[in-house]
Amino acid sequence: MMDRRQWIRAAGLAGVAAAAPSPLSPSLSALTQRGAAPGPLGLPRARNLIFFALDGTGFEDLATASHFSERVLGRPFFFREFLRRGASSGAMFTHSLTAVVTDSAAASTAWSTGRKVVNGALCMYPDGRPLRPILDLAREAGRATGLATTTRITHATPAGWIARVADRDQEDDIALQYLEFQPEVLLGGGAAHFLARSRRDRRDLVAEFRARGYDVVRSRRELLNSAGDRILGLFTDGTSHVPYEIDRRFQGVDTPSLAEMAGAALARLQEAPRGFVLQVEAGRIDHANHENDPGGMIWEWMAADETLRLLVDFVDRTPGTLLFVAADHDTGGGTVYGFGDNYLSSTPALLTVQRQRMSLQRFRSRLGRNPDLALLPEAVREFLGFDPTPDQVERMGRVLKGEASFGHPTAHSGDLNSLAAVLWEIPKGRVDRPNLAFSTGNHTAGTVPVALYGTGLTPAPLGVVDNTQLFSWMLEALGLSFSNPEMSEAEALEILARRGEEGEPRFRHPFD
Ligand code: ZN
Ligand code: MG
Ligand code: ZN
Repeated sequence: MMDRRQWIRAAGLAGVAAAAPSPLSPSLSALTQRGAAPGPLGLPRARNLIFFALDGTGFEDLATASHFSERVLGRPFFFREFLRRGASSGAMFTHSLTAVVTDSAAASTAWSTGRKVVNGALCMYPDGRPLRPILDLAREAGRATGLATTTRITHATPAGWIARVADRDQEDDIALQYLEFQPEVLLGGGAAHFLARSRRDRRDLVAEFRARGYDVVRSRRELLNSAGDRILGLFTDGTSHVPYEIDRRFQGVDTPSLAEMAGAALARLQEAPRGFVLQVEAGRIDHANHENDPGGMIWEWMAADETLRLLVDFVDRTPGTLLFVAADHDTGGGTVYGFGDNYLSSTPALLTVQRQRMSLQRFRSRLGRNPDLALLPEAVREFLGFDPTPDQVERMGRVLKGEASFGHPTAHSGDLNSLAAVLWEIPKGRVDRPNLAFSTGNHTAGTVPVALYGTGLTPAPLGVVDNTQLFSWMLEALGLSFSNPEMSEAEALEILARRGEEGEPRFRHPFD
């Protein structure tokens, strides 16, 4: 029998094995970190650039959302209309500098700086060297800037356009860096990092933003009534994200929709004399997928699709505007599977998602940690839209009470999606609940959609590109030239290893 070394030599891979201190082959690192990407696209010069980020979703979700939109809501899925109208589209690899599966911080850094970093870092290498994000370059070139999101405004994806921190969890610092940067528009959730009572340094950033001419709004009504041309919107208290779309629609939660935030951002930025760069993020498709929540995911996509329509309408009536649409990575690995004769049961089963009226997250917090098991079946029927089996009721009760944890059967995940793992187990022969199976509660490595659309852009296939490519395309469209410093995977791993020896934490397990 050959051992592994003999096998490697026999296969002619010895050179590769010896040269590779890392799990990724050097050729892949080289390919993604340096110029293997396609050259300039021949993009028209853009006065305005809008980047629509979809957090934690991939091609399978795109199809699921499309079927739901057309068959349940009876309305064309706008993403497809957008492709028909002449968007250029393709697929994108998303791995980070040192892991085949990225987190949102490394993913945002990749497109905003053109460089891959270690998961958890924002525009910074592990040796502390900072990278310059595109928003900084655009502002220097006279563009107005803005960020709008359904997560906390200091969360990784928007933060990757401005902040330079070693760790995405330094959200107090991120808020401070926003204050220094002064983008014209900041809209999202999570007031905690702006309030004196919850910041470690006790600074009142709300007052400091006001002193710099910002209108600070805390509700949907205040947002829609604001006449300020610089605006900071903080729509949730504490560290909460903006509530899920499914809860906003069906549970009477009064927060602005993503489309309303995007509209408010554009209303201000379109006045900018030298154009603007705006990032809009549908930030919680990711969270619903972490929770393995089919209805949660689909309604986040519906909100994203409505927002896409608004953005495309803006592009169509505003010459010189280029729109990027991209997912940062996939999450959950959800798939709609076929079953029944000729797979005919797959359609009615998927359509049962429409009976779900509450996110799993809200459902769990509503029931609390000591639910009355006798009321559980009715709660599942009312809010999730199906009849649980007695066995499922019993197991759900144990999960909610913290007596049992049924983690995802095939992934190294924690308790987060354990309720889903019970609820979406479908007894044989039943078609009364969604045939949407998740493969994990974590992020996955698959390629994700990317698309470009705008004035004067000749539609062309984008091919399969790396996420760092988007930085080059944005530079090209803005007529800028810049290159951030490089770091190899081996270098980064060495720094992390050294840090490990010095007793600093070596690995994080990013949730988002
Ligand atoms: Zn993400
Ligand atoms: Mg995000
Ligand atoms: Zn995530």
